[in-house]
Amino acid sequence: MDFSFSTEHEQLRETMRRHGREELAPLARAADDTESFPPALFRRWGELGVIGARYPAADGGSDMDKISDCIIREELSYVSQAFCSSFSAHSHLGIWPIWRAGTPEQKARFFRPAVDGKQVAGFGLSEPDGGSDIRTLKTRAKKVDGGWRLDGSKLYITNAPMADFLLVAARTAPELTNAAISLFIVALPNPGFRISKLEKEGIKGSETGLIYIEDAFVPDDCLLGGETGNYDVILDSLSENRVGVAASALGIARGAFDAALAYARERLVRGKPILQYQAVAHRLADMAAEIEAAKWMVYHGAWQVDRGTLTPALAAKVKLIASEAALRVSENAIRVFGGAGLMREYPVGRHHRDALVYIIGEGTSDIQRNLIAREFRET
Ligand SMILES: Cc1cc2nc3c(=O)[nH]c(=O)nc-3n(C[C@H](O)[C@H](O)[C@H](O)COP(=O)(O)OP(=O)(O)OC[C@H]3O[C@@H](n4cnc5c(N)ncnc54)[C@H](O)[C@@H]3O)c2cc1C
Repeated sequence: MDFSFSTEHEQLRETMRRHGREELAPLARAADDTESFPPALFRRWGELGVIGARYPAADGGSDMDKISDCIIREELSYVSQAFCSSFSAHSHLGIWPIWRAGTPEQKARFFRPAVDGKQVAGFGLSEPDGGSDIRTLKTRAKKVDGGWRLDGSKLYITNAPMADFLLVAARTAPELTNAAISLFIVALPNPGFRISKLEKEGIKGSETGLIYIEDAFVPDDCLLGGETGNYDVILDSLSENRVGVAASALGIARGAFDAALAYARERLVRGKPILQYQAVAHRLADMAAEIEAAKWMVYHGAWQVDRGTLTPALAAKVKLIASEAALRVSENAIRVFGGAGLMREYPVGRHHRDALVYIIGEGTSDIQRNLIAREFRET
């Protein structure tokens, strides 16, 4: 392993920290309380060039490496995982497949405005009957004159209630083959799409939707990458994004740790700061050690992406370690706070609720274990 942070990486981190401190932190609590995402953030992220971090300048992106992308996500999640979840669903899942497989017209109409933060994107893969196993997806697309008619449903779709367009995975043939899974770019509103906002226990400031799709017409020019499907594009997209998701988990863990450490220095019990009690100091030591381990995993994974050597198993290992660490660290933060840890005045309860999202989303921890085990079971 041979990576280091360059001066540009350090400058980017500083920019993102300032953005987090000055522009995100004042919004995070209200977004959680009102369960609504502040829409102006996408424009701001467009101005900062961070939506386009992973895309070439020729396509309107900022030409950054994966390490930079991880720094961006880590610092967003340090303040609010809700904001970073919406960012991730937009900047990666919702538009990466368009960048990878879209026609010049699709890129001009959907990708470019999304990179600039002028349109909001989402990615509709999961369904009520299947989140973990995408091969079972039931949403159907049937060919008609000039386009396709879609029927089905999608569940837990980030950004759906506020999106200008969604990438929707649908089956173009009745057979349960991978090749029959295609992606459609659906401009919203579409009369065949009924979208309702779900109430959640975590990342409340990110808007998540349930979608009923009934006889929804999608024109031919909104089929992405041909009728024979985009299963490999979906898998590649999920694989790379797992490293970004792990960077987010690292950010959540750091946010919870810093809050707990500050509290442990200030909170007096029997006349001395609780940090002086060994049990509290050891808890913080465990948290710091877990964060250090997750950090190395995340940036090792990012470095592998940049070298083009990331394997699905490594992506899964990185996500598994970092997301489970975020859950434990944020729980330990609550323990350090005692009763105050359950009060909304402090951010650690929110960090812990938010940490739950990544032991589930983008493949549960069990699914990551399956991907890791496949490496040694199939050889
Ligand atoms: C807040 C939030 C936002 C989301 N955003 C999006 C989004 O933008 N787009 C999108 O498409 N999806 C999104 N999802 C969906 C997410 O990817 C799925 O929830 C996740 O993949 C799990 O699927 P499921 O909920 O159907 O659980 P299930 O698949 O029903 O799993 C239930 C349990 O069974 C276990 N399990 C299932 N299969 C296996 C197996 N083969 N081996 C071992 N254990 C197994 C799981 O680990 C889990 O413990 C989001 C989810 C959440 C919670």
